[in-house]
Amino acid sequence: MQSSSAAALRARALQLGVTLDEDSAALLLRLLDELEQWNRAYSLTAITTREAMIAGHLLDSLAASGDLVGARIADIGTGAGFPGLPLAIVHRERAFTLVDGTAKKVRFVAHAARTLGLKNVEAVHARAEAMRPERPFDTIVARAVASLPELAGLARPLSGPGTHLLAYKGQRPSGAELAVIPPDWQLLGVRTLEVPGLEAERCLITLKYSPAAPFPAGAPAGLN
Ligand code: SAH
Repeated sequence: MQSSSAAALRARALQLGVTLDEDSAALLLRLLDELEQWNRAYSLTAITTREAMIAGHLLDSLAASGDLVGARIADIGTGAGFPGLPLAIVHRERAFTLVDGTAKKVRFVAHAARTLGLKNVEAVHARAEAMRPERPFDTIVARAVASLPELAGLARPLSGPGTHLLAYKGQRPSGAELAVIPPDWQLLGVRTLEVPGLEAERCLITLKYSPAAPFPAGAPAGLN
């Protein structure tokens, strides 16, 4: 039973272009076991059936697996660990910082990371915009947290020039929504996500942090 559901998960991930080894598939299913158990006591997620969790939490999270850049990844407003935990299971060579402002959710993320042996996950209880990491993250992911301009503001203190922000969204944004992206973020692309088992429209918006240089390039010395 367990192994056949792992096989089904691997087949569906492959439809997303994600190759799961046996260990990762087993860990992803164990993550759902833990979530189901904690959800009874702490109501961490509104998605409760196994099928809906596989599509809505695991596969949806993994849909941006190929879009990560760099070694240091942050998930802001991770909730019960989505998309951060599934991505961390698949990308063990990258370091993930999963941030949420709600203590009970961070406790679950820390518990899940410990139980599943994910040494590449750090759970942080904080408001994203109040964090001051020593070094900027390479990629920041966020799902169902805020509007695009708000998200750009939350991610700014965690970003350096070149940081990518991947926003998991529903409907493709209109031109008007894209027009209000703050000018220090450059729109790299919007792509439709085809998540097996999800009827809902999904898309991924990629922004790149591109702040203006503090002084005009080539300004004569002494002007600043
Ligand atoms: N990303 C998860 C949870 C979405 S719910 C998922 O897709 O399943 C939104 C989460 O964002 C909540 O857990 C809330 O506590 C958190 N959140 C909202 N604003 C935040 C902020 N500024 N900093 C950190 N967490 C925030």
